[in-house]
Amino acid sequence: MTQVNVPRTNPPTHHNASALGDLLDDAPDHASGLIVIDLDALAGNWRALHDLVSPSRCGAVVKANAYGLGARHVIPALANAGCTEFFVATIAEAREARTLAPDATLYLLDGILPGTAEDIAKLNACPIISTLEEAREWSALAQTIANNNQLPCALMLDTGLNRLGFSKSSIDELLADAATIHRLDIKLIMSHMACADEPDHPMNEQQRTRFESLRHRLPSAPASLAASDGLMLGDTYHYDLVRPGYALYGGQAFKGATTPVAPVVTAFARVLQVHDAAKDDTVGYSASYKLDRDSRIAVLALGYADGIARTASTTNQADTCGNTTPSAAFNGRKAPFLGRISMDLITVDVTDLTDLDIKRGDWAEIIGPTISLEDAGAAAQTIGYEMLTRLGTRFHRTYVGAHAPQRPSGPAKNG
Ligand SMILES: *Cc1c(COP(=O)(O)O)cnc(C)c1O
Repeated sequence: MTQVNVPRTNPPTHHNASALGDLLDDAPDHASGLIVIDLDALAGNWRALHDLVSPSRCGAVVKANAYGLGARHVIPALANAGCTEFFVATIAEAREARTLAPDATLYLLDGILPGTAEDIAKLNACPIISTLEEAREWSALAQTIANNNQLPCALMLDTGLNRLGFSKSSIDELLADAATIHRLDIKLIMSHMACADEPDHPMNEQQRTRFESLRHRLPSAPASLAASDGLMLGDTYHYDLVRPGYALYGGQAFKGATTPVAPVVTAFARVLQVHDAAKDDTVGYSASYKLDRDSRIAVLALGYADGIARTASTTNQADTCGNTTPSAAFNGRKAPFLGRISMDLITVDVTDLTDLDIKRGDWAEIIGPTISLEDAGAAAQTIGYEMLTRLGTRFHRTYVGAHAPQRPSGPAKNG
């Protein structure tokens, strides 16, 4: 049984509605979609997790362009908040991160692709090594270029995920190769958890126990096991360093309690047209949705090309699975998706919102105070993580907060 030692407080909420209203008014006329990224909330989330796990250290996972939010702004904001350890997946991501955080420790989750050891060393990044071959390539390079014949790295241990990492037997092979292991300057020994979002899952404790026994076979080094969800499982999972990604961006994937983080992302799409349609009309491709009443439809300027999965399409002609209805929202009220998601367009039902007088050019909330990241993901039969990382390039991105880039402060618009 896992103890969850986190206060069950409500997380801080989205910045207030009027501030969001101003941002929507300020958006460029040509913006069909808008994502507002609150860098103060992001920095606050890092500090909250840092405080929660202290005296363990808190790093930040900024792979996949900081989960789609823009590494260019996210990494400096986190570095400014005090974060000194960043995790990226690829060399290209490491290259960008290095320019943004020149002094930070950079861990490379993909490890060493054949032939890339030198590039990684030039970036002064720590590859997270999972195989004996990588260890040998890194060690060979250390012998040729490092003053002390050692290069920094992390070791990934497989404790049950069966993804990347050394197994027990491959650790033994590594230990048997003294020449190789002596040239590794092991900065971190890591593993990754399979079921940390479920506090009562037996695999959590199993993986922790395996991690204990495996890491003690290796030379002593700082340890890291927990990501966003694992760090919610209590002190015994924190070790020397936790490595949250999703929670920093406001994600609430942990099922046992509320993670003490605030939302960071709000996404909107523009209304292109509002029109009425009659009962028994069908809506969208394949005529998959047949209206069961006279309806008012708003057409939104976003679609699957913007990362709204086509699995968020709706039909009233078959049982829909899942219990979260895919929706947009206006003024805190939901407008369910109608029919198929197209590449660039989504039709929503605003029949019950006629009092709001929704019109062309208005903004519909896609993720925000009314539709959480988790709900948006669930409605598309996926998870908030996938939702975030897929939000496309057609969205105009606006950064707010103390360290946000200056927005042009043109004359106030009317209406
Ligand atoms: C992506 C990743 C993380 C971050 O996971 P979150 O659930 O987003 O906190 C941590 N560690 C490893 C090995 C990862 O691949």
